[in-house]
Amino acid sequence: MSEQDEQFPAQQQQPPGLTDPMTPTPDHGESSYEGHGLLTGRRALITGGDSGIGRAVAIAYAREGADVAIVYLPEEQADADETSRWVEEAGRRCVQIPTDLTDEQAARGAVRTAVSGLGGLDILVNNAGFQMARRESVADITSEDLDRTFKTNLYALFWVTQTALEHLGEGSVILNNSSIQAYQPSETLLDYASTKAAINNVTVNLASELGSRGIRVNAVAPGPIWTPLQPATQFTEKVEKFGSDAPLGRAGQPAEVAPAFVFLAADSTASYVSGTVLGVTGGKPVF
Ligand code: NAD
Ligand code: MG
Repeated sequence: MSEQDEQFPAQQQQPPGLTDPMTPTPDHGESSYEGHGLLTGRRALITGGDSGIGRAVAIAYAREGADVAIVYLPEEQADADETSRWVEEAGRRCVQIPTDLTDEQAARGAVRTAVSGLGGLDILVNNAGFQMARRESVADITSEDLDRTFKTNLYALFWVTQTALEHLGEGSVILNNSSIQAYQPSETLLDYASTKAAINNVTVNLASELGSRGIRVNAVAPGPIWTPLQPATQFTEKVEKFGSDAPLGRAGQPAEVAPAFVFLAADSTASYVSGTVLGVTGGKPVF
């Protein structure tokens, strides 16, 4: 690897990963995001809202005038507290829901907790996700591996969406977090990449079903973004050159992804946008 390719110091964590040990600290828009009242009075549930892209979306939504609820794993409480602090600093409410979404009843219960805590629901952001890079071949992926990846990324998306739809009315919005992996799958992320391709498919199909209810459904497909997911699930050498293969030559920050989630959530900017996947990839192709 040339020195030029090195983007980040070597570092490793265990999943789900935390923000504090990361070097450098990710940028979630804390000192840069300016709200313009685009989501005033809206109520948003963001799964995985404790850290990374989810935290940046929570901060942006709060500064746009929305109250938020965040779902995360209990071991991520420190990150959840930090997100809540920023949301509350913006003058909005943050409902904390520590829940393992791979459990169906818990996932459905998390949505009900969000609805009662926020007094309703207008925006669902299915952002929680799990991946694990593997050197082995397809033959070595265990059912346990598949369960964690598919239940977190797909089953939970279905369970959470089904339960949310009992509460989402006309004008509501569902946003899914896809990935560049849906278009350019890495051999090391065979199972994860397949869930992201499925999420794109679900996004388009669900937009078709829910259009008549006045509910818009879209996805964002991020490229390489500097979040705890990376040091927690990627090989050290991949972390060191993370993002260097993007046409823009670097990894993106969570703060650079959040505006796409604002654009797609707000009626004033995206009232006729549904069934699409918006790439935020640093130039990697999403087709
Ligand atoms: P992140 O680790 O900050 O966020 C992922 C979150 O998922 C965690 O914070 C955790 O709270 C949640 N989660 C995982 N398993 C869970 C479970 N069983 N129950 C409840 N919550 C659970 O990393 P991120 O990169 O911000 O990830 C957010 C989304 O972005 C994911 O869907 C990921 O696939 C997607 N994405 C990330 C990148 C990237 O380069 N970082 C690229 C493309 C897509
Ligand atoms: Mg986290």
